[in-house]
Amino acid sequence: MNILILGGGGREHALAWAIRQNPKCDRLFVAPGNAGIEALAECASLNPNSRAEVLEFAQENAVDFVVVGPEAPLAAGVSDALRDAGFLVFGPSQAAAQLEASKTFTKEICDACGAPTAAWARFTDAASARDYVSSQGAPIVVKADGLAAGKGVTVAETVEQAHEAIDLIFTGDLIFTGEFGDTSVVIEEFMDGEEASFFILSDGVNSLPIGTAQDHKRVGDGDTGPNTGGMGAYSPAPVLNDALQQQVMDQIVKPTIAEMARREMPFQGVLYAGVMIKDGQARLVEYNVRFGDPECQVLMLRLGAQILDLLLACAEGRLDQAAVTWADDHALTVVMAADGYPGDYAKGTEIKGLDGITESSFEMVFHAGTAEKDGKIVANGGRVLACTGRGATLAEAHQRAYALVDQIDWPEGFCRRDIGWRAL
Ligand code: ATP
Repeated sequence: MNILILGGGGREHALAWAIRQNPKCDRLFVAPGNAGIEALAECASLNPNSRAEVLEFAQENAVDFVVVGPEAPLAAGVSDALRDAGFLVFGPSQAAAQLEASKTFTKEICDACGAPTAAWARFTDAASARDYVSSQGAPIVVKADGLAAGKGVTVAETVEQAHEAIDLIFTGDLIFTGEFGDTSVVIEEFMDGEEASFFILSDGVNSLPIGTAQDHKRVGDGDTGPNTGGMGAYSPAPVLNDALQQQVMDQIVKPTIAEMARREMPFQGVLYAGVMIKDGQARLVEYNVRFGDPECQVLMLRLGAQILDLLLACAEGRLDQAAVTWADDHALTVVMAADGYPGDYAKGTEIKGLDGITESSFEMVFHAGTAEKDGKIVANGGRVLACTGRGATLAEAHQRAYALVDQIDWPEGFCRRDIGWRAL
């Protein structure tokens, strides 16, 4: 079959790498792709968020199956347009993608189905939000509603910090429009504990866990400095043991899937549940409706070619007959970013050393933000490469990932040296 993957980051490189290995895959297109993806798929320069452009490409190239990587095409309704035109698609509808796009929506779903999460309140004006924070005290969490690429959340240690965050949302540069077109803020109880990610496929009725991971959001060693899109990850996450996974499925995921079906917006795709674990109990922090980046890189290295069968079973509504074949393995990925990231950084610096690397199902350098220029690979984004290793133990995966990092000659890039510290 001919497959189209939408997106062009490390997540999509990992998806393309795994899908390519499945004998069911004939032609593989990735739009827009990147310099690393080009080695294993046909890259198409189109806007993945444009329903019209994606539809036209799928029709002209006899595409049989579309896999949506990032959240933006989902929030833009690209999966609906494709499904309406008769295409088989992996990825939720625009309505179901609200589980990521709207924090209010997710909180209402949790309340309706009894899923454990932080206590919350929503405000559409700054004064009421400030009063509420004063009455609750700190620490407290302030969230702009709507998609804000990780920049809309403030974990405030003091009431003053929370007030500042509220003012910024209503009066500063951080203005987002929520579900109803107005600016709104969700104030949440601060949850203490250890955070982990759980990935579950759902076909709208059935659900199938496909792995756990933990990531490192801060830019600096020791989890210091500003937040980023993610500087590294590993899978599995030891803290999400079997008992906790069962608890998350029973108390959070399955009730959510059922509530979405009840509201006639069945969730079909990957549900990425961010959970906070404390005293043997997990509570939901947030849902995302696509694979995480860089969590996808570690999941794909572990799952390999079977991912295509799983995504197809998901899209075709037969997940009840699907199962994951697990190797008893671990994977770890280290993100290499351009100097200055997550602030200002230069593009176009040359990356050497990639040619000398022998890639395998144990060692892969996934490209996140690269381009080819005059036959050279150059940096083309903030997060640029994801050096990913797999092994029988996390220590082995860690050693392989850092061995890849050390083969890359890119003076204008950096990485964290302590990915996986919590689990190692
Ligand atoms: P955006 O919508 O801006 O893209 P996001 O979807 O990444 O942001 P969340 O995942 O809800 O936002 O929050 C980001 C991080 O803030 C979480 O990963 C977690 O570390 C922390 N956080 C969020 N809510 C809470 C909470 N109630 N208690 C403690 N920490 C929280």
